[in-house]
Amino acid sequence: MILFENEPMCKHTSFKVGGPARYFVKAENADDLKEAFTLARENKLPYFILGNGTNLLVADKGFDGIVITLAGKFSEINDLGNGAFNVGAATPLGRFARTAMKQGFAGIHKLAGIPGTLGGAIYMNAGAYGQEIGTCCTKVTVLDSDGNIREISNADCAFGYRQSIFSLRHYEAGSRSNPSGTILSATFQLPAASAEGKTVADLEAELAECMAKRKASQPLNMPNAGSTFKRLDKGAADMPQQIAPGYYIEQTGLKGYRIGGAEVSTLHANFIVNAGSATATDIKQLSEFVQQKVTEKFGIQLKHEIILLGKFE
Ligand SMILES: Cc1cc2nc3c(=O)[nH]c(=O)nc-3n(C[C@H](O)[C@H](O)[C@H](O)COP(=O)(O)OP(=O)(O)OC[C@H]3O[C@@H](n4cnc5c(N)ncnc54)[C@H](O)[C@@H]3O)c2cc1C
Repeated sequence: MILFENEPMCKHTSFKVGGPARYFVKAENADDLKEAFTLARENKLPYFILGNGTNLLVADKGFDGIVITLAGKFSEINDLGNGAFNVGAATPLGRFARTAMKQGFAGIHKLAGIPGTLGGAIYMNAGAYGQEIGTCCTKVTVLDSDGNIREISNADCAFGYRQSIFSLRHYEAGSRSNPSGTILSATFQLPAASAEGKTVADLEAELAECMAKRKASQPLNMPNAGSTFKRLDKGAADMPQQIAPGYYIEQTGLKGYRIGGAEVSTLHANFIVNAGSATATDIKQLSEFVQQKVTEKFGIQLKHEIILLGKFE
């Protein structure tokens, strides 16, 4: 186990903000993880499992606990044959999606542009362009805080729109110590592209189209954490575009609105960007201002998709 003290979290989040984690652990195998849990227990500290920090806002005061990041053995992709893969939680989602695509397997290739890890994707049930990671996942292997390795079936993962049993239990518990366990790996059964009459070139063309849409619609040149708010339920909208929070934020005239160094993206209203010198407090205050203005104008309560860690002022 590799341990750092007072590690600046701005180095580990795509927003490029966030104060220090009291302890920061790099766990390369299950024994390292168990050691980190023991450290948490003995010091009565909460812990937080970090993926690639691309959906995360860490407070300026940091996190008075242990941030654990996975590496080494947790970054492996094991090809089990015939479209079955077991993938370590620290594996970049894009690497897995492209590896499977190059072998002629579909189902997740459109997710290659999501900048997180496999573990973060399972936690959030990440999705894009009609695909979701939970759909082709057959089971998830976790380590619980008592040090037991367990397998959770797809049904028990309770995948839904940007949620899973991992995120649901996390919020219910109101704690940062991932109550459904630390995701170690996930197993997938992907459909062969040929079953739909497609070739690898077809999948590559579909991905290229998705990447072009991302480039045109998202502020990829500025630090951000993807969508700030979750889509609304379909029942709440009269027109398809009204499901998207960006529709309401744009109608409220908030594109380009700033608090400190945080800005509602001028390109995509549901993205908040760090326009240079934002603090985590700027970003949080701006997101709350957006929520308030949208509620005032439309009577709608936008819910955060980004995850907050640490104590905010
Ligand atoms: C430019 C940009 C575009 C994006 N586009 C999309 C998109 O199209 N679709 C989409 O769904 N998301 C998108 N996102 C958001 C984000 O990339 C995804 O939600 C991603 O799945 C988060 O993964 P991560 O590894 O960065 O997780 P983190 O942000 O590090 O963590 C997110 C949550 O997952 C938990 N977690 C991470 N790893 C584990 C583990 N091993 N065990 C247990 N819990 C774990 C963390 O504790 C935390 O609660 C985008 C983000 C950016 C910056």
